[in-house]
Amino acid sequence: MKPILKVMFLAAEAEPFVKVGGLGDVAGSLPPALRKMSVDVRLMLPLHGVIRKQGLALHKVCNFHLPYENRAMPVEAYSFDLNGLPVYFIAGPLIPLDSTVYSLDDQADSLKYAFFSLAALRLAQELNWQIDILHANDWHTALSVYALESRVWRTPSFIETKTLLGVHNLPYLGSGAELAIKRFGLPAALTPDLPEWALDRPLALGLATADRIVAVSPTYAKEILTPQFGSGLDQFLSMKRQMISGILNGLDLDSWDPQTDQHLASRYGADTLDRRVENRISLQKKLGLPENPQAVLLGMVNRMDYQKGVDLLPGALQLLNLLPDDAIAPWQLVVLGTGDPLIEEEIRLLEMQYPDQARVITQFDPGISRMIYGGADLIVIPSRYEACGLTQMIAMRYGCIPLARATGGLSDTIRDEPDDAGNTGFLFDDPSSEALSAGLQRALLVFRDPIAWRRLQRNGMAQDFSWSRSAGQYLDLYRLMASKMNSGADGDVGDRPEQPPI
Ligand code: ADP
Repeated sequence: MKPILKVMFLAAEAEPFVKVGGLGDVAGSLPPALRKMSVDVRLMLPLHGVIRKQGLALHKVCNFHLPYENRAMPVEAYSFDLNGLPVYFIAGPLIPLDSTVYSLDDQADSLKYAFFSLAALRLAQELNWQIDILHANDWHTALSVYALESRVWRTPSFIETKTLLGVHNLPYLGSGAELAIKRFGLPAALTPDLPEWALDRPLALGLATADRIVAVSPTYAKEILTPQFGSGLDQFLSMKRQMISGILNGLDLDSWDPQTDQHLASRYGADTLDRRVENRISLQKKLGLPENPQAVLLGMVNRMDYQKGVDLLPGALQLLNLLPDDAIAPWQLVVLGTGDPLIEEEIRLLEMQYPDQARVITQFDPGISRMIYGGADLIVIPSRYEACGLTQMIAMRYGCIPLARATGGLSDTIRDEPDDAGNTGFLFDDPSSEALSAGLQRALLVFRDPIAWRRLQRNGMAQDFSWSRSAGQYLDLYRLMASKMNSGADGDVGDRPEQPPI
């Protein structure tokens, strides 16, 4: 029998405790899926103020101290049982009682996450838990990987630990961390390969020292090696390409299920798609849009961020409206998203410009997002880059057709081939309003053919986006890392047929 793998999973956010974006979905779904595969995986999270307020029945595990400048920084550790998954929460003075997951203060955030990353390592020691794999995610927890390079932290309990760093969003390297690195006494970076400017960026340091790197889709794993997507680290990452894999995120199929979703006026499956129209009408009513059955209802559920290409929408709609009335189906639009105030402002103008057609909701509202997935006809995702993306997978599961820019995980999950009966959506190449508009035109033409549209819906709903598939790939990677660890060989994905080197 194979020994049980011990995996410490570190993240800044995780469902059901707190979610800001896709990382929260992943950290909430992957550890439970691995647990089902008999991995001794434990999730570690900061005890953010927003979690503290939930009044969870936490158990105090221990108190200890971390060295911090010339002082000792107190740490409190708590545990919580999430349906059999052990979750540990770290608290201390650098995680303020009223804190959100991320703030606008880079330096405070980097102090908080350096504290959390190092406290998590120390907690494993306190628990006498000798982990096989340290799985950190994004810049927030990358310093845990980097710390294990130093003799101070690579104590006997971590001597056999292998490190894996998940990349969900490369451009966020963790600026403002110089002070945190200094105050926690982490050594200056030793690697000559990193560009000088990156030597105090946690994600860059983690990437330089991790045994393996996983990007959250196969295409993103390749894209980060290029100047366009590499955030200045493309050459450095190219040197490490043999250590980089791409594993697509999965979806929590229980949570995202149109047959059971309580937010839908009418629940449905692939064989009862006719019922979906009631959700559309209910959404139109809620938004005060005309209940026009001929109109295609476009939806967007997105962080309002430059990355997401939301700003391409107004220009695309303008171009669409230059077409003669009978050329395409008439459109309506609902946008749900929060983020950059300037982008929010620009998108809100659409309501004034198209009072009978467009609605913009600048809130974070999971209930409305579900009504959009379950009632809109098309979900628009014009991302400039997308490591994996969940929106398109959720939409497909709900029979809402994705129209997306062909990048990262969007390319890996949406099929759009010429004359292919297996297509699941529409892709366009350029991050421009013109290309988005051309994609919309294409989709709106197909919308007029109910049989073709239904086929797209059914194809999308038949896709397997389950976590069990992705978790199996992570398990293979963990096993490979652990076996290399035991045999003393270096890590190379070449002998793993299911995850070939990119
Ligand atoms: P990212 O992690 O870059 O934000 P993803 O597509 O991976 O993008 O995940 C976004 C997740 O957040 C999806 O579950 C989406 O439904 C959800 N989401 C985004 N914006 C909102 C919002 N304003 N209200 C509710 N849910 C949202």
